Amino acid sequence: MLDKVLIANRGEIALRVLRACKELDIKTVAVHSKADSELMHVRLADESVCIGPAASSESYLNVPAIISAAEVTNASAIHPGYGFLAENAAFADQVEKSGFIFVGPKADTIRLMGDKVSAIQAMKRAGVPTVPGSDGPLTDDHEQTLQIARKIGYPVIVKAAAGGGGRGMRVVHNEAALINSVQVTQSEAASAFGSDVVYLEKFLQKPRHVEIQILADGQGNAVHLGDRDCSLQRRHQKVIEEAPAPGIDEEARKKVADACVKACIDIGYRGAGTFEFLYEDGGFYFIEMNTRVQVEHPVTEMVTGIDIVREQLRIAAGLPLSIKQEDVKISGHSFECRINAEDPQSFIPSPGKVTTFHAPGGLGVRVDSHLYDGYTVPPFYDSLIAKVITFGPDRATALARMRQALDELVVEGIRTNTALHRDLVRDRSFQAGGVSIHYLESKLED
Ligand code: ADP
Repeated sequence: MLDKVLIANRGEIALRVLRACKELDIKTVAVHSKADSELMHVRLADESVCIGPAASSESYLNVPAIISAAEVTNASAIHPGYGFLAENAAFADQVEKSGFIFVGPKADTIRLMGDKVSAIQAMKRAGVPTVPGSDGPLTDDHEQTLQIARKIGYPVIVKAAAGGGGRGMRVVHNEAALINSVQVTQSEAASAFGSDVVYLEKFLQKPRHVEIQILADGQGNAVHLGDRDCSLQRRHQKVIEEAPAPGIDEEARKKVADACVKACIDIGYRGAGTFEFLYEDGGFYFIEMNTRVQVEHPVTEMVTGIDIVREQLRIAAGLPLSIKQEDVKISGHSFECRINAEDPQSFIPSPGKVTTFHAPGGLGVRVDSHLYDGYTVPPFYDSLIAKVITFGPDRATALARMRQALDELVVEGIRTNTALHRDLVRDRSFQAGGVSIHYLESKLED
């Protein structure tokens, strides 16, 4: 096993990684910014190192500071969590070149998947279904671009190959607007992502967001842990997730999941990863792969009983996968509500001191949170403060437990989106299951 892991992250995911390390008897190093010395996991870690000022660019994104912290503490591996440097190939390279293990895939894999055009091409080769599209970057040949779009059929979406976080995309409804939209997206992409490569895809009108969790050891073994539905989104940010995705044909699910496993083996994938799909009219369409642990990984843990972070650490230690596909049994249902420090109506971030925090409990209730009474949520980072997760033998029970858990949750001193969640878990359409990715935004507009 690994001897000592440096956790290059903050908040709930840093605590999640720390818990997995403690369970495996791995020593821990917390690195934190000046604004984060009061974080829960900093108190619990074996060692802690301040890596810079509050601004992420000078702390959690500061590669030399993080590598130095690993050197002075003699860490063996670095876990990047999600966000920050988790999908930065140059960082993964630097970590390994400095003699540490990167808890994640090889840098080349991150690079391959970070470029959406090359990711889609790799997936097609492996037999993963993709969105009908240009199958490669658009060129300066406008006539050719127009032809590609005609063949796909409008509406189409222009996407930046290097895009992320829901940015660098533009929907085009007719031919007259196409070339201009391509050029605008190219120049935006060049300034935002340092690459003007864009491609075209069919714009699906009412899809759901369904994703497949996989684990692979980079030694020829890979398994999938079933799917999750993350369709409840606002501005491309997931709000509630669940596993399994409701109302999906068992055979279609198995087919796409098996294709993901095959793709992992084909590309020599190592670690935990997620294949994201749009799902419409019974079809799955790959949009991108995330090469890290995701915020919503707990719902999969609840229905499989598999600890995904523990598996990440085992794989990083060079151990072969301990699980075979036939060992993975999906049972029951799980939901996750993302509690953010933000105004429930305006969504404006609401940092500040938490005067009271009371976490819900009971059978089938899990809370992943770094909050405690008296903790001050700093204004510099993501507003996620807690994930309320419930499990039940069936969807209705898991949802009933979520309604109760949200009613028990108390966060005083700052504003949170708890009221929105309480409303959503009582929403008729959400209760029925299977709403599209536009459902939440159209509900909020009403
Ligand atoms: P990012 O890396 O920025 O998250 P994605 O490729 O995952 O980009 O797309 C983000 C979101 O944009 C999707 O979850 C979906 O809501 C929307 N989207 C992307 N591609 C399409 C498409 N072809 N049709 C409809 N919506 C799309």
